[in-house]
Amino acid sequence: MDKPTRICSRCEDEFPLDAKHFYRNRATKNGFHSSCKPCQKERMRETYGMKVGDLKVKASTFRAAKKGRPEALAELKRLNVTAIWNGREMVRL
Ligand SMILES: [Zn+2]
Repeated sequence: MDKPTRICSRCEDEFPLDAKHFYRNRATKNGFHSSCKPCQKERMRETYGMKVGDLKVKASTFRAAKKGRPEALAELKRLNVTAIWNGREMVRL
């Protein structure tokens, strides 16, 4: 049986479509991100790093938000942060 594969939207390499090569993403139909793990990581670093730098969000606020603290989530929303990386997947706020 052929395993489903996916071409990464960023590096355009083809990988087996599984949790080893792609991060999970509940927002997409098949449950995986459109870019491979290394590319996704890179992208996260760019967006996450940029947002943190530009908006001066405290690391402690992100940590609290990851734990689901309502006041931290509200603070990030106020700063127009739309999603956070919880270490495994992007979580929309
Ligand atoms: Zn890639």
